[in-house]
Amino acid sequence: MFWQQIDSFIPANSPLAPTDQSHHLVFVGDRLLAPADAPHWRPLHQEEWRWLDVDRKATHYLGTLDGHPCYAEDVEGPAPSGYNSIDLRSLLGLANADLFAAAGRGWQIVQWHRDHQFCSRCGQPAADHHSDRAKQCASCGLIAYPRLSPCIIVLVHRGEELLLARSPQFPAGMFSTLAGFIEPGESAEQALAREVKEEVGIEIAQPRYVSSQSWPFPNNLMLGFHAEYASGEVRPDGVEIIEADWFRANALPKVPGTVSISGWLIQSYLASLQAS
Ligand SMILES: [Zn+2]
Repeated sequence: MFWQQIDSFIPANSPLAPTDQSHHLVFVGDRLLAPADAPHWRPLHQEEWRWLDVDRKATHYLGTLDGHPCYAEDVEGPAPSGYNSIDLRSLLGLANADLFAAAGRGWQIVQWHRDHQFCSRCGQPAADHHSDRAKQCASCGLIAYPRLSPCIIVLVHRGEELLLARSPQFPAGMFSTLAGFIEPGESAEQALAREVKEEVGIEIAQPRYVSSQSWPFPNNLMLGFHAEYASGEVRPDGVEIIEADWFRANALPKVPGTVSISGWLIQSYLASLQAS
């Protein structure tokens, strides 16, 4: 099995001019506009964007979607009539992996542009860099690139048992894999061993990289692993993890779907058990 392939959205930085078939991801605050009559969520077409009655703040080129230029549009004002707005998390259940990746990239770039108008070193205005996707301070020259926070996410297994856990924010009954931020100076494997130990008190062995996913809540790159249980008793830390346990492969609780890498790590491990 392979991680859900993203092949129709191709990120790029060198802007292409809009065409009749361009796609526009329109952000109002932290919500995305969608035509109210569309059966599934979709970006706006070029003609819809051209006539949209909103206050336009900034346009960011994202790359190509289905071979056509795709842009994130930062606008103000209420959603115009004929349009709904949804939050990005809701999009997880409404869009395929390509659309979710495009929207996630758009949201991260829109947020970065809004939040980096001034230099973090000297406080003077920062302008778009002449060639890179970056902001450069006109006064001191400091260059700031969009922020990306690498995280590990891991399914720990013990034969036919999977270690799944609940964080306080999860919907009732939902369990998932463990995850955490990689700290400065750490390798992904070190972060993985540390996070699992901190969150549930056990030691792991044989971490094996499986796949990755951009996760725009707010700007994470999730590096997905499988790892074997080595030693220790499961003891949730009570803060980030309120409940954790071993579940047999044929008796799993409610887990995330495979649009998220957590769901994918679980399903790919179940598939490897069936294959063995
Ligand atoms: Zn500066």
